[in-house]
Amino acid sequence: MSEPLDDMYRDIILDHYRSPRGKKPLEKADVTSDGSNPSCGDEIFLQVELDNGTVKDIHVDCRGCAISVASASMLAEVIKGKSIEHAKKIAEVVKKMLKGEDTDIPDDLGDLDALQGVRNFPVRIKCALLAWVTFMEGIKNYEKGHGDVRTRVSTEDYE
Ligand code: ZN
Repeated sequence: MSEPLDDMYRDIILDHYRSPRGKKPLEKADVTSDGSNPSCGDEIFLQVELDNGTVKDIHVDCRGCAISVASASMLAEVIKGKSIEHAKKIAEVVKKMLKGEDTDIPDDLGDLDALQGVRNFPVRIKCALLAWVTFMEGIKNYEKGHGDVRTRVSTEDYE
């Protein structure tokens, strides 16, 4: 059974799709990653500038369906200014939320709440996940000391 996206959720997603946040490329990036979602054809390029364990700035350039672009835009909006640890926790919550697993959803997720509607469309879950796994893998590589390497991520590797 799938239900149509709630109107409010749809409006939020379309707003992010039409005017995505984090559009400005960064001159200096500590994390650079490319992600793809072959099942839909979505592609993302992501840059993160870190400062003392905090996400100072972030750039996302996502080419794909409305859900993938909106999710990437929401990531840019929510993650900017957060500590890496906090950002990782948010990414975990989003992943669980999209998969329909039990999780406490914090109040400070802002528009991310709108992604809950995506659960009703299983083929779109990876579209929404794309930005988050691309971000997380980039951060993981950075923490392993490979921040200078461009990370490549495919949603095929995620269930
Ligand atoms: Zn998609």
